Amino acid sequence: MEGIERNQNSGKEMIGRIIQSKRVLEAREKALAGIAFTKEELIMLLDIDPESDEAEELGAAAGEVARKYTGGKARLWGAIGVDYRPCDMNCDFCSLGKKWGIVKEEKEVTLEEMIRQVRYYVENEFHYILLRTTEFYSPERLGEIVKNIRKEVPGEYELGCNIGELDSDKAEYLYQCGARIAYHCLRLREGQDTRFEISDRIRTLDVIRDSKMKLGFWVEPVGPEHTNKEIAEKILQTLEYCTDVCGVMARVPVEGTPLGNYAQISEKRLAQITAILRLACGDKATEICTHPASELAVRYGANVITLETGAIPRDADFVEEYWEGLHVGQAREWLDRNGYQVKS
Ligand code: SF4
Repeated sequence: MEGIERNQNSGKEMIGRIIQSKRVLEAREKALAGIAFTKEELIMLLDIDPESDEAEELGAAAGEVARKYTGGKARLWGAIGVDYRPCDMNCDFCSLGKKWGIVKEEKEVTLEEMIRQVRYYVENEFHYILLRTTEFYSPERLGEIVKNIRKEVPGEYELGCNIGELDSDKAEYLYQCGARIAYHCLRLREGQDTRFEISDRIRTLDVIRDSKMKLGFWVEPVGPEHTNKEIAEKILQTLEYCTDVCGVMARVPVEGTPLGNYAQISEKRLAQITAILRLACGDKATEICTHPASELAVRYGANVITLETGAIPRDADFVEEYWEGLHVGQAREWLDRNGYQVKS
């Protein structure tokens, strides 16, 4: 704890000396006081050049706010992509979209493998463990998997799901099986880059919010095509849903998908958006993830890091190891160097 306090103090001193930007100073004050941001204020922060010194100041301010509200507590989030299977929803950014013909050979992670992976995550102090499926995976089947995992791997970890649309009965069923969190969001350009009805996504979000499970909602999938206004609105929506864990995720261009030729946002831009989400959340949501993770994003306010394996919408192949080679040692090193302690 002493280490954390020392870090907090040195952060304040650094902030006092280096912040020149009026808009960053004002944002820092608001976030530390837990005051809500307007859309215009968020747009103004998103306008900052991610390569500039001002972005560094923004990141330092968000890092300070993160230390205040997290108390130096970090979480690890492990995801398992259960089914590598063509999905009829054909989202324009997703490698699993049936129309893009990327998935040649279907695969599904076996229950034994999921249990082995969850055990590994639990032994390594992961707090959140999510089973992610394509849209039409059977909730009953997923519930059975959750039950089996709970039986085989005891612990206080938050096991959860990222599945298709849910009604309240299915959400309650998943909870009774042992699920404690569900990931769901209204994505950027939902209904335009995806084939979903916005109202269906919102209905599921409402169901999860009103269920016994926690809700994970990310600002995603962010690409250079999105305007600052769109991103600001998504940040405000994150707050509106009182999400328990939130984050920012980049759109990763997968060759062969309709958005495969669009660039990916830079690490600095992703870290900048993470910093703005951190400031905007203030004392409302303390657990903030950035994906793909980087040490810069941790410095700019992220305290949740994700490792994922299996079927991944951001990858053309079924991933046997961990996506992009990130491993738990690296994630811990980044968190440790930035004054965080992982709590399971
Ligand atoms: S993002 Fe989800 S719903 Fe969309 S195509 Fe991929 S698996 Fe299906």
